[in-house]
Amino acid sequence: MTPEEFRQLGHQVVDWIADYRENLHRYPVRGQAQPGWLASALAAEPPAPGGGLDGFLDDVDRLVVPALTHWQHPGFFGYFPSNASLPSVLGDLLSAGLGVQGMLWSTSPAATELEQHLLDLLGPELGLPPTFTTAGGGGGVIQDSASSALLVSLVAALHRASGGRWHHDGVTGRETVYRTDQTHSCASKACRVAGLGSSAERVVAVDPVTRGMCPSALAEAIRDDVADGRVPVFVCATVGTTGVGAVDPLVEIAEVCAEHGVWLHVDAAWAGVAGLCPEFRPLLAGVEGVDSFATNAHKWLLTALDCTLLWTRWPEAVTGALTISPEFLRDAASDSGLVRDYRDWQVPLGRRFRALKLWAVLRWYGLDGLRAHLRRHVRLAGDLADRVRAHPAFTLAAPPVLGLVCLRVVSGRGAEDDDRLPRSVLRRVNDGGRVFVTHAALEGRYLIRVAIGGELTEEADIDTLWAELRAAAEAEGALA
Ligand SMILES: *Cc1c(COP(=O)(O)O)cnc(C)c1O
Repeated sequence: MTPEEFRQLGHQVVDWIADYRENLHRYPVRGQAQPGWLASALAAEPPAPGGGLDGFLDDVDRLVVPALTHWQHPGFFGYFPSNASLPSVLGDLLSAGLGVQGMLWSTSPAATELEQHLLDLLGPELGLPPTFTTAGGGGGVIQDSASSALLVSLVAALHRASGGRWHHDGVTGRETVYRTDQTHSCASKACRVAGLGSSAERVVAVDPVTRGMCPSALAEAIRDDVADGRVPVFVCATVGTTGVGAVDPLVEIAEVCAEHGVWLHVDAAWAGVAGLCPEFRPLLAGVEGVDSFATNAHKWLLTALDCTLLWTRWPEAVTGALTISPEFLRDAASDSGLVRDYRDWQVPLGRRFRALKLWAVLRWYGLDGLRAHLRRHVRLAGDLADRVRAHPAFTLAAPPVLGLVCLRVVSGRGAEDDDRLPRSVLRRVNDGGRVFVTHAALEGRYLIRVAIGGELTEEADIDTLWAELRAAAEAEGALA
């Protein structure tokens, strides 16, 4: 493809994306395809002709779009919304167009320096102390996911706890890791990948009201393990759990960790970005005492997947764990010690220029624009929670947190029906196609999660959601 051909076709693709975004509300939120639908449609197609993109966008319309769940749809309330704002799409396009690989500072200095600069700038805006910035001896890096950020932090902790022997010896089988039953499953996955296995995991009790980790239970678990000859290495605390948005009390947990020399990681994948707003910053109280902190710009902060922001106070533990320098990757800049090579801060070697899309977002919205975006959703969630409280067919399954409202449906016919009802209400609401919600379980009981956070989601969409929920509850025989 010549640059001139790219110019022509590129304009068509940009137009296609603009049309898609303009018309999003016309689609059913959730994909309608049955398993195997696309595979069989493709098998029935003539072989791709080669040598052109004629009909490519038509095929996307015909074959791909019907089998999508439209994550940018204003009626998307499932999981946590993953905003791919249009400024971030343009930043991502630039990154793809440049096609640079930023594994080392020297392989594209701008890729490293923009990333480092943006993380140094954003950390303090989120309420992280100066110890997480380059100038303060810490540093930030963009990871592909909160899962990777957790894994990187875990291996840094293993490295530190072993005094570096981990490189050679691997894990000893005595290491232990602490979380709660509300912690995201990626913590267990990280334990598996790091070779610790589930026998290393300790599930610490939570407070029955807040569902936050109970610090005294953590202290007791660590003491028991130490007495047993175990080596406590890592605590994963969460600010804003995926299920119900619970917040682990960082101040007290950090004290326990400091006493025992245990690495404290904070997984704030969804809620961490709320630190931009001073009024939400109490959620991060105690963050000055943690060792690493991760939040996803690709959830609530309008930046297209993938863009997880990870900060640590101990960059040398991360690079100590992950640096391997074969001859072909050595150069004078790296050897000088004056630059950062981000390949040493992540599992893969190669890395995309992700900072460009984050830069585009910061420039387009500004910090005040981002704050307004976050506040709008918290306000909408408050309105929805008020409606839930006032209606006999619904109850709040947990206190609302930021943009997350978890609810149950009341049958008036006892516990068994109360557990069955939200499942059928959820199915009915999602089948309707106007909105999309997902579920979680709390103490074994099913609940409906409404995660408000889409850029296009407005008050009218909350009205639609509420009407759909009420109609479904009525049709399923909930308390009127
Ligand atoms: C979404 C989420 C994750 C997983 O995020 P990825 O970036 O997809 O790995 C982890 N932890 C929490 C609390 C989350 O909400």
